[in-house]
Amino acid sequence: MDNIRLLIDLHITGERQGPGDVAETRRAIELSGLLKRRSLKIADVGCGTGASTLVLAADLDAQIIAIDAQSDFLDVLRRRAARAGVVERVATVNASMDSLPFEAASLDAIWSEGAIYNIGFENGVRRWRQFLRPGGILAVSELTWLTASRPAELEAHWSAHYPEVGTASSKLAVLERNGYVPLGYFVLPESCWLENYYRPLQQRFPAFLAQYGSSDAAAAVVAEEEVEIALYERYRAFVSYGFYVARRTGCSP
Ligand code: SAH
Repeated sequence: MDNIRLLIDLHITGERQGPGDVAETRRAIELSGLLKRRSLKIADVGCGTGASTLVLAADLDAQIIAIDAQSDFLDVLRRRAARAGVVERVATVNASMDSLPFEAASLDAIWSEGAIYNIGFENGVRRWRQFLRPGGILAVSELTWLTASRPAELEAHWSAHYPEVGTASSKLAVLERNGYVPLGYFVLPESCWLENYYRPLQQRFPAFLAQYGSSDAAAAVVAEEEVEIALYERYRAFVSYGFYVARRTGCSP
């Protein structure tokens, strides 16, 4: 049993596969200026089972192309979109975020919540820029240090798992040097992690372990999640996801 299969099974029944909230997606939509625009074409990259896709489809006059490397997540997303009455606004594409299947300058926005880290923040914003029209919007959430310094245990964990973790000012600098104008930044509140992501995840542990007969591999997946959860609970004053909204350069304000 490979680890990816285990992770899919653990996460596929969740409403979301990372920290976030409908209200925070809406906050980013407001900052983006997209509400006043019509007939948009938007990619939701690393969409999972569609937590943000469904909000974008409901709130915007847009066609959403929901992209994920896991087709199982996309199957669930299509069912959720049908239930939400937005299925005709959503197309799913099983592709990798490091080679997006778009023409140059063809998108009004690229959305990506809790996913760009898979190819690295700077690599992602650099690669994706070409697909945005001048003035197009990039909206991404990304692991972010909240303070200038932090406890060594926290620093050691995330530097090992995601070396690009940094402060908001460093992320904004990445956007600026890669051809974006930052429009807004905010921090995801604790409820996005605890109530919306970690608690439901923990509630799924028993069924997940039972599904795999408490195999060593399944137990190891749960143990690793528990380490991350305990670390977050202990150090939540120092780390969260930052939500970054930026505009591709090449268009006057
Ligand atoms: N945006 C969703 C899911 C976040 S979890 C939410 O907020 O709930 C990260 C997602 O990225 C997962 O669905 C995972 O399958 C996807 N992913 C990981 N690596 C990827 C890659 N290289 N290309 C496309 N999707 C990828």
